[in-house]
Order: sequence, then C-alpha cells, then structure tokens
Amino acid sequence: MSVQTTVDELRARPGTGDTIAIIDPVTEEQFAEFTDGGAAAVDEAVGRARESFESGVWQHLPQAARAKVLWRIADLLEARAGELAELDSLNTGMPLAQAEHNINAAVEFFQYFSGWCTKVNGTAFDIRQSGGLMGADLSVHAYTLKEPVGVVGLIVPWNGPAFNAAAKLAPALAAGCSSVLKPAEETPLSALVFEQVLAEAGVPDGVVNIVNGYGHTAGQALVDHPGVDKIAFTGSTEVGKKIVQGAAGNLKRVMLELGGKSPVLIYDDADLASAIPAAAMAIFRHSGQACVAGSRVFVQRGVYDQVVEGFATLAGKLRYGGPSEDNRAHSGPLISEKQLHRVLGYIDGGKQEGAEVVVGGHRLDRKGWFVHPTVFAQVRPEMRIYQEEIFGPVVAVTPFDTDDEVIPLANDSTYGLSAAVWTRDISHAHSLARRLDAGQVTLNCQVVWNPDVPFGGFKQSGWGYENGHLGLDGYLRSKTVFAQL
Ligand code: NAD
Repeated sequence: MSVQTTVDELRARPGTGDTIAIIDPVTEEQFAEFTDGGAAAVDEAVGRARESFESGVWQHLPQAARAKVLWRIADLLEARAGELAELDSLNTGMPLAQAEHNINAAVEFFQYFSGWCTKVNGTAFDIRQSGGLMGADLSVHAYTLKEPVGVVGLIVPWNGPAFNAAAKLAPALAAGCSSVLKPAEETPLSALVFEQVLAEAGVPDGVVNIVNGYGHTAGQALVDHPGVDKIAFTGSTEVGKKIVQGAAGNLKRVMLELGGKSPVLIYDDADLASAIPAAAMAIFRHSGQACVAGSRVFVQRGVYDQVVEGFATLAGKLRYGGPSEDNRAHSGPLISEKQLHRVLGYIDGGKQEGAEVVVGGHRLDRKGWFVHPTVFAQVRPEMRIYQEEIFGPVVAVTPFDTDDEVIPLANDSTYGLSAAVWTRDISHAHSLARRLDAGQVTLNCQVVWNPDVPFGGFKQSGWGYENGHLGLDGYLRSKTVFAQL
C-alpha cells in the first residue's frame, strides 16, 4: 500500500473531536490530518474489546493456534517492512535505516512472544498443615492459574511508533488479552498497517482496536474507562502521573515505561575509541529522542578533555537531514515545533545558569525542527539541564575523580531508567552495576535491547517491565486454587 493510501485511510476514519494535523518535521508542512476519536470512539472500542474478551474467541483459542497467529503477524510485518519503515520515517523524520531497524525489532517482538503462548503456566504446591478449622491436619494440593488480565489500554509515544506498538501488542496478544491501542497523535500512520496485518494474520474482530486522538481526549478517556482492566503506557513521567490518578477510578492495573536522565560513567582506563562514539551517538542519534539516551556523562579527570573534545568533534561531523534528503543523514529532526522550543528553552536556561557550551547550542540554519548536537561543560547538579529530561541532542559532561564521588552524583536523579559504564576493568564494571540506581545498566556498550531481556525503570522512570517473561507477566493475573486431598 502506498503512503498516500494510508494517509487517505487515516483521513476517512470517523471521529467526533478536533481535526488534528500531521506535520512533516523536516519540511514543517502539513501532509495529513485526521479527526480525534475522543471519548466516544474509546467507549465503542472498549465495548468491542470487552465483547471479544468475554466471548473467549481469543483468550480460549488453543495456545498453539494463538502462537501461529503471532508468528504470522511477524511474517506479514516483515513482508511489509519497507512500507512500515517509510511511514515511520515520514512521520518522525528519522532516517530510513533507523526506521527499518525499528521494524525489524517489531517483527522480533511477535516472534519472541509467539513462543510464550504455549508456555503460560502456574505453579503447583504440595502443602501439609497442622490444626485446620476442625483441628485436623490438612493435606492440600494448591496451584496457581495464569489468566489474561482482561481488556488492556495500550498508550504509546511518537519516538518509535511501530516499535512501541509492537512492544505492547505482542505480549498482550500472547497473554490472551483484548486491547485498545492509542498511538501518539503525531504518529498514527504505521498503526493502520498493523490493523490490516493483524486481521490478515487471523486475530479475530474486536481483539485489537485502534483509536486515534490526543492524549488529553482519547488517551485520558481510555485511562478513565471503567471497562479497562489495565493501562500499559510508554511516555513522559508527567503523563505517567496523570495515568496513575485516572486509574484510581476502578483501580485498574498500571504499567509505566517513563522518562530518564541516564548517567554514563567513562573511566580513565576505558577503550575511548569505542566509548566516545557510542556515548555520543546514544544522545545525538534520533536527536536525543530516546528514553535511554545518556544525557549526563561523567568522565574521570584523566581523560576528561579528550572525551569532551571527542564529543565535540563528532557533533560537528554529524549529518542531520530528512529521510528523503540525499545526504545519508545520521539523524533526523525533533518531532514538533513544540519540542523544538522546549529543547531550545533548556539550552538557553543552561547558558543563563552559567554552563559552558562547548559545541552547538542553537537551531540548525535550515528548514525543519533540527537542533545542533550540543555539549555542555561546567554543569552543576542543581541546573535544570542536569536534572530534567530534555529529550533533545543535549548532553552535560562533568569530571570526577573517584567512585565514591561519582556514584552519588549518578544516582542523584528522580529518574532511574538506565546507566552505562565504560572501563576495561571488568570486575570494577560489575561492582559499579550493583551500585547504580537504574533498572538497566550497560557495561562497555549503550542502547542495547532484546525482546527476551526484561526492561523497566526504577524511581520515576516507571512501574513494571516490558520484554521477557516479566513483560508477559504484566498481562497475566494469577489465581490461586486450594484443594483438600
Ligand atoms: P507523552 O507522555 O506526552 O505522550 C505519550 C502518549 O501518551 C501519547 O500517545 C499521548 O497522546 C498520550 N497522552 C498524553 N496525555 C495523556 C493523558 N492525559 N492521558 C492518557 N494519555 C495521554 O510522551 P511523548 O512526548 O509522546 O514521548 C516522550 C516521552 O516518552 C519521554 O519522556 C520518553 O522518555 C518517554 N519514553 C519512554 C520509554 C521507555 O520505555 N521508558 C520509551 C520511549 C519513550
């Protein structure tokens, strides 16, 4: 299907709310629009999801049949990978190669969770108790049953549209849940291809329902809806807190994958030829719009100047551009004008608070919402650019001398999503992993991901896990059965 067909299909979808324009972040021109589904579309979608769940058409399908459908989804996504990558790169401005990488990951989610469909089992207990109700000894067989939690609301951000949708749809389907997916209002396109793929793969009607709209309208309606049993959310910490409040109405379960301000520790003995480009790209790629972007870099004093210079040199060489531009861009723009002003606001604030701009610190002199990769030195912990998630290509580099100095600095954040360590001393690296207060620690690598390895944030970076058996578990509930023998 061509991009234009998907754009037309989006426009034709019914809704009751405002018209939402989709702007190309590279050209700043509108190329599509759609109508906010609002609370009415959410209510209808939750009704369809509930009906499909109660009917058992998906949750009671033989496990092997469910596994086959998930694998078929993976195959169909793979067959349409080019089209999906084109839609995501157009929608976000990210380079095509990066979008292709994300689609591969989406395929892997379905392949991985397909395997779980036949492996969802509880645990058995053999119990002997003395002094039961009638004073007699009891011999009891107890076991747990793993059941799907029910109807789940899946709310995802714009920074990796297909990737984030797959990360939630695959475990939800493997667990037997029915769902309502709300894509980000900036990036609704690739979800329409998912809808077709799911139907073609054999997911019954009503099991997955897509509603488009703003967060404060459609998203909030999904969070508030009494017919929803769980919300799985990826997005900002600010909205995560609203979701916790909204979920209180029917005490629905909540899984949150939120923001970060991740520390990167580079030691004197690190392999700098690997560390500098990896750490720099972890914050500059995708214009810094990655939850695990290492935005606070701590460098041991012996190599501080070398690392700052290395970051600045790389920042100066990076090519920024749109997917259809012929410059083989390393990174695309920021997602929106709002995000551009937010990032520039942080940069101006950093300058005013006395941080030193080593490189960048301004918008690129071209069309599109591009900010020059920016390195700040002389950053103090109380500064906003040190404490708050900027979600732009902006890094604060700070020198340190000892572990006892840097660990409290690294852990001094309301976030706890990810942390990285670069040192050739492997035993030192593993001991640091235990001291860093983050849900994920990477040693001599950054931005590593795999669908079978659990991922989740500490502190205000989230609740619960995505990926792996812990990710699946979030879509299951455990029922305990006691049977007297
Ligand atoms: P956002 O929180 O503004 O929006 C995310 C989604 O929530 C969108 O679909 C939006 O429409 C919806 N939303 C907004 N307000 C809502 C409300 N009141 N009720 C229900 N839904 C609502 O986040 P964003 O700007 O789209 O994404 C960037 C953020 O996402 C960053 O903070 C980033 O760190 C985080 N993120 C985290 C992970 C992770 O796995 N931890 C991954 C990617 C992005």
